[in-house]
Amino acid sequence: MPSPSIVWFRDDLRLADNPALRAALDRGEPVIGLYVLDEVSPGIRPLGGAARWWLHHSLSSLAERLAERGGTLVLRRGPADRIIRETVADASAAAVFWNRRYGGPEREVDAALKASLREDGVEVASFAGSLLFEPWTVKTGAGTHFSVYTPFWRACLALPTPRAPLPEPREVAGVRHPLASDDLNEWDLLPRDPDWAGGLRETWEPGEPAARRRLREFLTHDIGAYDRARDEPSAGATSLMSPRLRWGEVSPHTVWHETIAAGAGGRYLSELGWREFAWHTLFHFPELATRNLRAEFDGFPWPRLAPTRLAAWQHGRTGVALVDAGMKELWHTGYMHNRVRMVAASFLVKNLIIDWRRGEEWFWDTLVDADAANNPFNWQWVAGSGADAAPYFRVFNPELQAKKFDADGHYVRQWAPEHLSEDPPEPIVDLRETRQAALAAYDAMKRAPRD
Ligand code: FAD
Repeated sequence: MPSPSIVWFRDDLRLADNPALRAALDRGEPVIGLYVLDEVSPGIRPLGGAARWWLHHSLSSLAERLAERGGTLVLRRGPADRIIRETVADASAAAVFWNRRYGGPEREVDAALKASLREDGVEVASFAGSLLFEPWTVKTGAGTHFSVYTPFWRACLALPTPRAPLPEPREVAGVRHPLASDDLNEWDLLPRDPDWAGGLRETWEPGEPAARRRLREFLTHDIGAYDRARDEPSAGATSLMSPRLRWGEVSPHTVWHETIAAGAGGRYLSELGWREFAWHTLFHFPELATRNLRAEFDGFPWPRLAPTRLAAWQHGRTGVALVDAGMKELWHTGYMHNRVRMVAASFLVKNLIIDWRRGEEWFWDTLVDADAANNPFNWQWVAGSGADAAPYFRVFNPELQAKKFDADGHYVRQWAPEHLSEDPPEPIVDLRETRQAALAAYDAMKRAPRD
């Protein structure tokens, strides 16, 4: 009797360079691919709308690719711990493999499951597939974790080079009698009534083949302009790899080695370093999305939330050109250029004086690349409350930023052309006054007594 292996796919929706899949294939027994939509285990953050859209299409692509190679992807919904154990029983599986996750609640689920499966005599192994340098392997001289990026990245670069990517399997032999699987369409990951995903469909093609194509295209044509033009939102000089890395359609190891093979890199690789640093931070501070990393910010005197201001920001109606353009790009495509993310976030926190968590939640719901580490990490960076953050008193001036990085107005023309009309909208707040108010609030926080 064959004793199949289960590969539990999570944030690694790919066949190439997938160490868990490789381990299963190396056992030489049939392989069952499994994805569990777990929205109920304690602490697991439900996916945002744009992320659900991406997940649907990426799973559909993965299922097709597995089927082409003789395998199957089983879809099940519910608490991961119960579902995995049920699937092991249904398939009489002898082994379960996965690539590691680094968020607090996810690690708890995985650790408990590993222990209980082993108790039942099931072989379990986990692998590094989503990060180049796992959080506990990068340590200061004193043996602690890092809270400043530059020494963190220097320490990473002093570690052994990330392993070479594993080749994509040509065959994935499945089980003879397929297991019951949910119908992906019944998971309701796609928006209906209204279907707001038209802009996402125009912009993106989720799935591993498109991710690999985009990486190749970037490394062949665009990376030459990266250092010079990466801050210009209309230059098309960045890689657009963030959703692909978020969903693991391509591994960071593949990006790393292909970048080096293309003879490119320091600056681009150091951006991957920020991704690693965000995960390093989340690993050591699992409440990154809800708590200030720097506790002094707990005393920040946020004024009472002004819902109309928040809504104006969310829908690109602030009257500030670069902010409105960014928020409309986000709404339409599920993506926003990094420079504009910084400007839009700074405007929310330091001109509208709205708690960074409200902005983080909106990005979580609308970004296709929203992830548990990068999103809150970057929000806290902009807000000044995070690791190695921009100081709170550094307030981006959205008008100067537009002059500098969108000098010819291409980006604003594309996303918020009303600002270039004869009767442009007025800013909903005075930039100078609100900046002063934000700095005064910051000073009040600094002066407040601490226990
Ligand atoms: P490239 O410039 O081509 O960079 C290559 C890769 O490096 C990216 O794909 C990404 O994985 C990584 N990277 C680049 N910049 C950063 C950064 N500042 N922090 C961490 N990793 C980085 N990125 C996300 O992946 N998910 C998020 O949810 C997210 N939320 C953000 C929220 C705010 C407020 C800000 C200011 C930034 C956020 N970022 C987030 C970081 C960054 O904006 C995106 O990673 C980047 O715009 C993606 O475009 P790209 O792939 O073309 O980037």
